[in-house]
Amino acid sequence: MQIIPRSQWGATPWNGTPNTVPLGRRTEFFVHYDGGDPVTRTGYAIMRAIEAGHLAQGWAGVGYNFVVDQAGTAYEGRGWNLQGAHCPDHNTTGIGVQIAIGGDQEPSAAALATCRALYEEACSRTGRTLAKRGHKDGFATLCPGSKLYAWVQAGMPAGDYEPAPDPGGWNGGGADENFERYQVVINGLSYGYGAQGDHVTQVGQALVNKGFGKHYSSGPGPVWTDADTANYADYQKSLGFTGNAADGVPGESSLKELLGTLPGRVSPKPTPPFPGRDKFGPGKNNGSITLLGQQLVRKGYGGFYTSGPGPQWSEADRKNVAAFQRAQGWTGSGADGLPGPETWTRLFS
Ligand SMILES: [Zn+2]
Repeated sequence: MQIIPRSQWGATPWNGTPNTVPLGRRTEFFVHYDGGDPVTRTGYAIMRAIEAGHLAQGWAGVGYNFVVDQAGTAYEGRGWNLQGAHCPDHNTTGIGVQIAIGGDQEPSAAALATCRALYEEACSRTGRTLAKRGHKDGFATLCPGSKLYAWVQAGMPAGDYEPAPDPGGWNGGGADENFERYQVVINGLSYGYGAQGDHVTQVGQALVNKGFGKHYSSGPGPVWTDADTANYADYQKSLGFTGNAADGVPGESSLKELLGTLPGRVSPKPTPPFPGRDKFGPGKNNGSITLLGQQLVRKGYGGFYTSGPGPQWSEADRKNVAAFQRAQGWTGSGADGLPGPETWTRLFS
């Protein structure tokens, strides 16, 4: 079986930092349902609705460790290692799993089998047989409803339903291409539901400028919303994209077309190798001296240059290097103005 990670279903960043709980402290496994009303959502929308509800309670995000839908798909909430918010006094000892049904909905065989598989995996990871509990065993509540509670009391039988094998490893396996995309990373920046930053605002403004802003009721702003997705999908369709290629999550080509250029995190340039001490000093003339001078200027140690920097070694080069060396706390021959490997490395780091 497979667990859809938070990054895939479009979780917003944690509100605060949930505590980590060592697996060794887990002794029980709680089954929950969604409440008195039937669940009509499917797929990622289930998680996003739970998240919105739990964030509204002031919690860090989805409070269950996992959620299982009627198709038998498991979704990551707090996962294996974070403290949940699902049953007071049992959030560190208990792994909490919601089966996404409500009211008198009948749990599917697929959902029960996946929940059972999560239980088995939890026992395997903790090295002990966890107690099987319904929420009402730890707290005065109707949860998990009569049907799931009867199932828990019967020992959580999985029946003969076999969950599909996990293609990518537990909890964080690869994205399943049968699922919609919600977020992508392009050039080190995230786009799609839940993504945040000035680059998100930039995309929204560009959409508005091109006439694709009709789904905004406010904004655009720095947090990617469903309105951004809807507007972006309109824009993709205008480019001739269809189906999954017009899902409202940017691809490289549409993004470049929209913005004229791809924004990205500037990756630091690698340190050039130290060319050797014999490249520097009176009478020397080479490209390494130019490179040195330019880097000194960039770092704010170009004060002695009246022209250049250039390839011909000068007294200004020496004085600028010496100033940089003294700024490292070096004295005497350590600040002689002639770069060695350590000066070079620090200058280019
Ligand atoms: Zn519950």
